[in-house]
Amino acid sequence: MTTMLSHSYRPGDYHSFEAAGEKFIYLVSAGAVFALDEVANRVLDMLATGPMGHADLIGALVGGGYAEADAEGLVRELRHAQLILSDHSVPAPVAPNPPKDFPLQALVLNITNQCNLSCTYCYEFGADKIATPAGKPKFMSLETAKASVDFLLAQSADRKAVHITFFGGETLMNFKLLQEVVLYAREQVAAQGRSITFSLTTNATLLSDPIITFLAENDIGVTVSIDGPAEMQDKRRVYKSGKGSYAVIEPKLRKLIATHKSRAITARVTLSEGVTDVIGIYRHLKDELGFHEVGFAPVTDSGEQSYSLSAEEMNSVVSQFHALADEWMDHALSGRPHGFSNVSETIGELMQGANKSHPCGAGLGLLGVSPSGDLSPCHRFTDADTHSLGTIADGIDREKQSDFLTRGHVGAKYECQSCWVRPLCAGGCHHEAFVRYGDTGHPNLHYCDWIRDWTDKCLQVYGAVSVGNPEFLERFTDRKALS
Ligand code: SF4
Ligand code: SF4
Repeated sequence: MTTMLSHSYRPGDYHSFEAAGEKFIYLVSAGAVFALDEVANRVLDMLATGPMGHADLIGALVGGGYAEADAEGLVRELRHAQLILSDHSVPAPVAPNPPKDFPLQALVLNITNQCNLSCTYCYEFGADKIATPAGKPKFMSLETAKASVDFLLAQSADRKAVHITFFGGETLMNFKLLQEVVLYAREQVAAQGRSITFSLTTNATLLSDPIITFLAENDIGVTVSIDGPAEMQDKRRVYKSGKGSYAVIEPKLRKLIATHKSRAITARVTLSEGVTDVIGIYRHLKDELGFHEVGFAPVTDSGEQSYSLSAEEMNSVVSQFHALADEWMDHALSGRPHGFSNVSETIGELMQGANKSHPCGAGLGLLGVSPSGDLSPCHRFTDADTHSLGTIADGIDREKQSDFLTRGHVGAKYECQSCWVRPLCAGGCHHEAFVRYGDTGHPNLHYCDWIRDWTDKCLQVYGAVSVGNPEFLERFTDRKALS
């Protein structure tokens, strides 16, 4: 008790924000949001001006009309929740390492590394180009694909449900294989009393009626890489001849969206120089073409390409993101889903109390498989020998996997230790870091300000909806995202 009285207190590691006229904090140690009542808020305000001794703090609360026993109880509660820290508080541990035998949950099968488009910013062709190593196949064989399914099922041990994403190159250039894999995988999981879901990413140029029917009948989630209306899409998403692809994909997309009703059809937009009309692109994809969800990401680059976003363009993107986030919030308050997935994904992570050791599942619950059967942390690293994590035939190279995960752990990223957004960001995409800094374990410092600003905005949306329509948030408790 005597020791307690000599304590002085300082604020914990949190980010405060306001929403719907109420005060909230995002508590970093817990990755959780709390609404602050008036008295808790008063304590934090007092400590914001400097540390306070125990007796002074209790005295100030009692002076403000609080009973002494209640004041003691409140301070104890705030200390236990780590909203306030004493001299003797042990620093909150960084997100713990996942167990060594963390079971696999998903594979991204790069069923071909060939593409019929030649998008000028594509990582297959851009600064971080990962060339197909000599002698390696351009299309995955059925044998490798079946072995990949067997590998996923063996490595996912006790999981009831697993997932396969088909990726390319242009995925549909190997559609025949995709069909065979779906049928084979369904047979195998059924025999084991388990379940499986599928998704694919495509540029939509090769969609046809039979393909659309197959995707719809097999509940295969579809993400379309598309940059917006013709003038945006045709700027960089072009054929090798330089001809734009919009006119080819537009009728196919209308057919896909009209036919495929069992899963959300998502558009994934890459923002690059001159392609920054976020709101216009959103309206076109959502309202005119009918996509259910639209997500945006700035182009991955080393910062110096002709297609890189300028600082002014990035500012414009941020303010348009804010406007769409406000729209998302208005929809949520009246119980209507909105398709801006950049908000939905962050809200999902907040609902799940994300406190990440790593930015994503790459190399952990998720692996990429190249056409030859080489394993990599995710689809963006496939065919890069420098990032190989083993092979389907020989299994996961545990030493390389451990090196990748150790370097990618948020605790290994110095700058992230004092950043309030680390439970959600954890340093950002490993691949982006590799392209920008040549090291998958480097924090993505070029977009910290942007990430913090954006997360703050999503917290405000979360807070407002948690006050005005909390039931709406429940639908995000099991939302998954794969970038
Ligand atoms: S990369 Fe930047 S924004 Fe992300 S956790 Fe680290 S310091 Fe924070
Ligand atoms: S966030 Fe980056 S490293 Fe992680 S899965 Fe996505 S592309 Fe791969």
